[in-house]
Amino acid sequence: MAGLITVFILETVDTQQELVLKGIAASPGIAVGPVFFFEKDAPTIEERSVAREDVEREIARLNQALARSGKELRKILEYAQKRLGEHQAKIFEAQVLILEDSFLFDTILKRIQTECKNVEYVVHNEIEKYRLVMLGANDEYTRERAHDVEDVRNRILRNLQEQKLISKLEGSAVVVSYNLTAADTMILSRNEVLAYATDAGGVTSHTALLARALKIPAVLGLREITSAVRNGDVVIVDGYSGAVIIRPSDKTVKEYVARRAHFEQFEQQLSGLRDLPAETTDGRHVELSANVEFIQELDFIRMQGADGIGLYRSEILLIGKEVFPSEDEQLQNYKHIADAMFPKRVTIRTFDIGGDKMMVQKVKERNPFLGWRGIRVLLEKRDLFLEQLRAILRASTRRNIAVLFPMVSNLKEVRAAKEILEQAKSQLRDEKIEFDDKITVGAMIEVPAAAVIMDDLAQEVDFISIGTNDLIQYLLAVDRGNEFVSSLYQEFHPAVVRFIRRIIERAKSHDIWVGMCGEMAGDPMATVLLLGLGLDEFSVVGTSLPEIKKIIRSTSYEEAQRIAQRVLEFETEDEIKSYLRSMMKEKFPDIPIE
Ligand code: PEP
Ligand code: MG
Repeated sequence: MAGLITVFILETVDTQQELVLKGIAASPGIAVGPVFFFEKDAPTIEERSVAREDVEREIARLNQALARSGKELRKILEYAQKRLGEHQAKIFEAQVLILEDSFLFDTILKRIQTECKNVEYVVHNEIEKYRLVMLGANDEYTRERAHDVEDVRNRILRNLQEQKLISKLEGSAVVVSYNLTAADTMILSRNEVLAYATDAGGVTSHTALLARALKIPAVLGLREITSAVRNGDVVIVDGYSGAVIIRPSDKTVKEYVARRAHFEQFEQQLSGLRDLPAETTDGRHVELSANVEFIQELDFIRMQGADGIGLYRSEILLIGKEVFPSEDEQLQNYKHIADAMFPKRVTIRTFDIGGDKMMVQKVKERNPFLGWRGIRVLLEKRDLFLEQLRAILRASTRRNIAVLFPMVSNLKEVRAAKEILEQAKSQLRDEKIEFDDKITVGAMIEVPAAAVIMDDLAQEVDFISIGTNDLIQYLLAVDRGNEFVSSLYQEFHPAVVRFIRRIIERAKSHDIWVGMCGEMAGDPMATVLLLGLGLDEFSVVGTSLPEIKKIIRSTSYEEAQRIAQRVLEFETEDEIKSYLRSMMKEKFPDIPIE
């Protein structure tokens, strides 16, 4: 992929000792270059009383700042539309909409008039309330979106204080910042940005999405990069592994320059695979599809050659919403995805709420991961579930949608969910609305109990999708988000491997199609093993698609089965990993593995 990897040839290298920070690999590629410290002072806001005769002047200042902010944002929107297309640019449309929120700004106006306070204070105070609600959400996505609100607020404040933001780089540089908003990421990309590296942010943040779309390497969530570097320091950003090397030695720079050349060549090879099927050398075809959260990702996954969508996390539609999106709103979204991917298959997972994700109502649970989540919520919130299933069915007229139920732990749940699906179908029939009567129905295998009853479950569904993210945490009793036990969260624990083998075997004995949409499906070290265990579909994040395809296309099914058999004989995770690691080193030296 041309332009994915950028290198800055160094003239001088600092002699200080190098320091390696580890963050989240958010956009692939390797860059080496000097730091441009993108600093945005948090606005200092004083609360001041304003004389009644000056209130009009404050309001005029507000209107002027809003007009200027609107102009700036529309410029960014236009630039994003031009550079990335309509879909990606929607992020900025959302910000423009915040600026046009008449309820919010009427409230601000009234407060200035009645409280006789300075405009900066009221703007800050009112928008902050909104932001804090979003930040207090118990899902990561809404918290990330709070940055949009913060960005709009800070933009207005900056304009009120008539400050200019420096976003012009001298030459090419690695942008380092505490956090980057979508607008920062976009505006800075008008310069020659080699990479982004930030303290905050995660893989689902706007910065990550935009960096991938812009093909600029990014490592986020580094926590302390802003305190570890100064303007002009040389850094290496490795968007594959999530490492940032500060003040690298000559030797390290050379290594990375060589690695970059290697990847560049490899990326070129990979891009040649885009339109080829995910097929082993002896002709076993598997589906290689993508996990999708935002519709903005559709262009990217198509470009990466996805065979379809193996997991659409529909709960994303609930982000930042006080009420559930209506049936029509959902229909529009599902239809957009189905149309964009047609004739490829789109698997829509019904709202997976609870656990670490957003909730339908405020509930305090002592142990949310073992609590009210996924299908358990949907079956109790029957009207919402029915509405979602109606929307999915109405979007299914092109017959490329499948529906997937999350967090299934017993047969009764699947039967009840199917009953509601039948109810939705019957309503639509009565209303003479077209839908796919033969829509395929699947269950996520995330709870060990569901795996144990696979023989019975297979009678009820057309396919299953193994959600290893949850399955591993429930099988090994290790919270997937708890850093104290993260070393015990083991994809290659023999129990996990043997359990997956069993799930696939049992499902296949009933002619059920088996996919995997947990992160393990996108781990290159697991590809040959999963292939050998007989997995039919790998659903992975867009960035991983080409390398997983490369592995599949370079392996014979026979050999994969042999390797899987060998893996099943090992007794510890260490043995399995070291075996797979050396197999990968020998067969796929180009593919970076942990
Ligand atoms: C999983 O559990 O593996 C999965 C894909 O679902 P999520 O990560 O959304 O919980
Ligand atoms: Mg899950």
